[in-house]
Amino acid sequence: MPLQELNYWLTTTDFPPSDPSRPLPDMVDVAVIGSGFTGLSAARALAKLGARVAVLEAETIGWGASSRNGGMVLTGLKLGFGELASKYGRDLARRMYDASLASIDCVEQIVREESIACDFSRSGHLEVACKPKHFASYARQAEQIEAEFNHKLRVVEKKDLGAEIGSAIYHGGLVDETSAGCNPARYVAGLARAASKAGAELFEYARTTSIQRDSRQGEPGWKLTTSRGSLWSHEVMVATSGYTGPATPALQKRIIPIGSYIITTEILPEKLAQELSPRNRMIYDSKNYLYYYRLTPDCRMLFGGRAAFFPETRQTIRRSADLLRRGMIEVFPQLADARVEYVWGGTLDFAFDMMPHAGQIDGMYYAVGYAGHGVAMATYQGQKIAGLMASDHAADDKPENPFVGIPFPGAPLGLYNGNPWFLPLAGAWYKVLDWVS
Ligand SMILES: Cc1cc2nc3c(=O)[nH]c(=O)nc-3n(C[C@H](O)[C@H](O)[C@H](O)COP(=O)(O)OP(=O)(O)OC[C@H]3O[C@@H](n4cnc5c(N)ncnc54)[C@H](O)[C@@H]3O)c2cc1C
Repeated sequence: MPLQELNYWLTTTDFPPSDPSRPLPDMVDVAVIGSGFTGLSAARALAKLGARVAVLEAETIGWGASSRNGGMVLTGLKLGFGELASKYGRDLARRMYDASLASIDCVEQIVREESIACDFSRSGHLEVACKPKHFASYARQAEQIEAEFNHKLRVVEKKDLGAEIGSAIYHGGLVDETSAGCNPARYVAGLARAASKAGAELFEYARTTSIQRDSRQGEPGWKLTTSRGSLWSHEVMVATSGYTGPATPALQKRIIPIGSYIITTEILPEKLAQELSPRNRMIYDSKNYLYYYRLTPDCRMLFGGRAAFFPETRQTIRRSADLLRRGMIEVFPQLADARVEYVWGGTLDFAFDMMPHAGQIDGMYYAVGYAGHGVAMATYQGQKIAGLMASDHAADDKPENPFVGIPFPGAPLGLYNGNPWFLPLAGAWYKVLDWVS
């Protein structure tokens, strides 16, 4: 099959049908903006609590990063435990890392409860060291994580790496058996069905263009204007991640949209697939400008990276196919003759401090900033924010969420209004960091 500019996962998935002529409700308890993992997980939890919920999606259900990602359900955060501890203190850092472990269980529990056929499997992840000094840091990390959390990571020496990966270019690895893999498009479609089943109403092609404070019969709330009409809501939950736009300017100024791109090969012979990834791990390397890769359930190599830093366009996608294929062959020369059949891109959400952030901004609830760890954390934060909203209304104890209330920085000197003009510089800077560190 010739190369297609198409998200391979979509070819494996049926999304729930929706009726574009159905009018928006006049009034709801919560309007959720965005229908990825964050929005749908929040909608499902809120609807189960009895709230009337409308999910407003600018495009189609799961259209954003949630259907386009690598399907790696990963422990940890973008920053390591050491960095977290020196930034936030040991206690808060512990709660953050614990949340990352709990987020995997959260996905697994939803998949089970809702019988979502998304190939969820605890196949573990493998980080591979691009330089000897990266490998040298693994033993310390593993000791620290075991001492703090009784959570075991396994350091793999270069000589033993063949049992984990069919590539000779790395200096060793670090395995975490807790992480999992899934088909993200099937997962987000399943979450949408689960949210609907719980009673949430889902509206596609309903781009929110403005959100204004508005009281009704003395009740504080919001008037939302969308491309499909307007509605009034007591509360708003913003779940727009890397696609955050001008309807929520305070959030848009704090989120950098970063492009990430993926190719998949043709279906590989079983023996070759087994040689490349004997334990079917979710794999990523130790660079800043990193590659991530895995086998798909039907044995294609899925290979991703920030081939271009800018969010996806036809040009960046086409260019990425070539760059990623070259990267893939450097890692796995065995794939020199494998046909690349699909290429696509998507937009990641990075905060300036590379941390997840959640809580309230300008009176609206939100959760964003997953920095490449959103499959698990977005699902978890959606549920946590639903709990926070419920506790605010009932004046109950707040649910534990270490990402609520931490400082949420904007750009240094306020030099960013949501137009990421500095991305080529950031891309170049990361390449420099990879040479020197
Ligand atoms: C190529 C790629 C690979 C990745 N790989 C991994 C991985 O392997 N593991 C991992 O953990 N994470 C990965 N991620 C990150 C992960 O996919 C995201 O963090 C996660 O999906 C974010 O979910 P979300 O629901 O917050 O946002 P999204 O899924 O991006 O959804 C946001 C939605 O909001 C909608 N929207 C935006 N503005 C409006 C508006 N005004 N009105 C209505 N709707 C609006 C958008 O249309 C979009 O559908 C990857 C991301 C990409 C792009």
